[in-house]
Amino acid sequence: MTVLHEGDRYHVRTSALRVSVAGSSSAMPRPGRACSCYVIRSSQAAILFDLGSGSLSNVREALDYSKLDAVLISHMHADHFLDVIPLRYGLKYGPVPQGSRLPLYLPAGGQTMLRQMCAAFASEGPADFLDEVFDVRDFDERSILEIGDLRLTFARTIHYVDTFAIRAAVDGSALVYSSDTAPCDRVVELARDADLFLCECTLGLGTESGARGHSSAAEAGAMATAAGAGRLVLTHFSDEYASSQLEDAAGDRYAGPCSVADDGIELSI
Ligand SMILES: [Zn+2]
Ligand SMILES: [Zn+2]
Repeated sequence: MTVLHEGDRYHVRTSALRVSVAGSSSAMPRPGRACSCYVIRSSQAAILFDLGSGSLSNVREALDYSKLDAVLISHMHADHFLDVIPLRYGLKYGPVPQGSRLPLYLPAGGQTMLRQMCAAFASEGPADFLDEVFDVRDFDERSILEIGDLRLTFARTIHYVDTFAIRAAVDGSALVYSSDTAPCDRVVELARDADLFLCECTLGLGTESGARGHSSAAEAGAMATAAGAGRLVLTHFSDEYASSQLEDAAGDRYAGPCSVADDGIELSI
């Protein structure tokens, strides 16, 4: 029996970081699921890591999009950025008037690609189409980006185009999102001692020949172990394998808690 003495106090710790998974699929979405997107929330900030095709609908399930403080795009593959377009329509024509332009952080070269794409259909011109509602910026992967109380750092991954894993830290808690990567020491270092490691496992139980750009579930497990991550959540996968197969494969290489992501779930640190 626990005897409570006068002066004992309970500390109810609220989550320092919350992740709402808004898109857990790889480039070909699983039925009813969207491509890469994660809503990251702290006490002072709400941001998106990626905004892949089909994900804005799920973002709207998680929060009022007009409350977003920033959107970060890890790399310029369609399964990571295409829903910037419907978000633009929401910010321009949606029910909630927008107080200021929403910061949209892209990797170097991303602005050129996005503006070229918008130029193909935007009658108002690509500059007006985007800049009316977004404050479009490059992020510098060598610098720390601070948004509210969130401290964001980056690591270049091994992928087919310039791609950056992102670490979000606040009050001694940290999560790392691998984005798309083959097994990568830089991503491991970024994920060092993170409470939560959201790691891609596009290859599932398979392998990749030629130039590497993705990881299997086992390789995700190995990276989580090398990083000393507190918890592994596998993401960016197809419906080729059952969730239990992915968890088992990662679990063979990682002894900590391991699960698969799904659209709509919320993770707390
Ligand atoms: Zn990619
Ligand atoms: Zn991808």
